[in-house]
Amino acid sequence: MADASADADTVTDTVTDADTDTVAVADTDADAVTDTDTDTDTDAVTDAVAAPGPGPHLYNRRMRPAALSLLFLTLSLTPGCRAPAITPPPGIGTMVYVNGAAITNYHPTPALRTRRTLVDRAKYPAVDVHCHWEVEADPVAMLAAMDERNVRAAVNLSGGFGDDLDAMLERFHAVDSDRFIIFCNIDFSRIDEPDFGPAAAAAVRAAHAKGVRGLKIFKSLGLRIRDGSGRLVPVDDPRLDPLWAVCGELGMPVLIHTADPVAFFAPIDERNERWMQLKRHPDWSFHGEAFPTRDEVLAQRDRVFARHPGTIFIGAHVGNNAEDLTAAAAALDRHPNLYVDISGRVAELGRQPYTARRFFLDYQDRILFGTDRYPGRADQPRYRIYYRFLETADEHFDYHAHHFPPAGDWKINGLHLPDAVLKKIYHENFDRILP
Ligand SMILES: [Zn+2]
Repeated sequence: MADASADADTVTDTVTDADTDTVAVADTDADAVTDTDTDTDTDAVTDAVAAPGPGPHLYNRRMRPAALSLLFLTLSLTPGCRAPAITPPPGIGTMVYVNGAAITNYHPTPALRTRRTLVDRAKYPAVDVHCHWEVEADPVAMLAAMDERNVRAAVNLSGGFGDDLDAMLERFHAVDSDRFIIFCNIDFSRIDEPDFGPAAAAAVRAAHAKGVRGLKIFKSLGLRIRDGSGRLVPVDDPRLDPLWAVCGELGMPVLIHTADPVAFFAPIDERNERWMQLKRHPDWSFHGEAFPTRDEVLAQRDRVFARHPGTIFIGAHVGNNAEDLTAAAAALDRHPNLYVDISGRVAELGRQPYTARRFFLDYQDRILFGTDRYPGRADQPRYRIYYRFLETADEHFDYHAHHFPPAGDWKINGLHLPDAVLKKIYHENFDRILP
């Protein structure tokens, strides 16, 4: 990619802004299951468009090169092998302006000759603390996929509530109640009922009795959920206190997603580092007066952590401070009941490998493995990428398996974490929280 600091005359743009479907089809990590609410480092449009079915010829024509390129990528990652360039299908690339002339479909190939490692299986059994799957998923197929990637257990944060939750528990716990861990959700549509807090706490208690192990709070709390007065419900709304308290009492961690990447709170313009992603998903933006600031919503969340020291909280996506690990560390220092998962943030962590490695070493007892995917999804590229990031010293590689960077336009580097730290992140920390 053109780097303005290295070449002031060169500016990048993308030809795909006007053709989002083309970008979408290039997603080799595609599946139709829910990412929309929670996953902010990939392309939810992608998932919908790439689902099998009839569509414009464009899709079908481009699916095949995408699949071939995935094969090519897979072959290229053989340990120690040189990786040939991935050749994206025609029409996907970057438009570069040089001295007034435009070059379209630009996709430069790094000339680096460095080690490239394919990591098919986690070095130690992994617990994926951040998954989303729907009840239609096949538990037997998922177990096979988990075995293939050395995933010991997977946590579904989309357990739901009421009948949906019951159906999820029945289907998955009938097959394996140790390896499928279900977290429940809350029905916030009842927020205006006078006994909302106690009733929600009672629902969590009942869910726990049925085998639910934790509670997941989506980012809609603080940013989208409004009560009858029209007011956004803040994360630290006192009506929710009984909920946090019952989780502490029952030993159920609360995995909470609050706020989002910095870029999602910034204007959608050419200075936004995730401009192209926000062009595809303008609804992912929380910029403007309709929303609290990012700092405000995170402060609301931190007040909950402080008010409920007996409850374990897991901040999704590095507590949504992956761009500022000093701030992430400060939150962990202030709140001994706080843990973080790394799901959906390897792109951010891997572009600051020295700082990130220090963070992982310093907070090795507080970090949990998670992907924001689920076992068996497509060819499971995310597991391989995450393992490679944590375990290897590979440099300058893609944080995605798309033909196009789905979040920001950069590469990542591996952290080559020590074995003792890998063990903690893959499962030991989880086992301490949820014995
Ligand atoms: Zn998620």
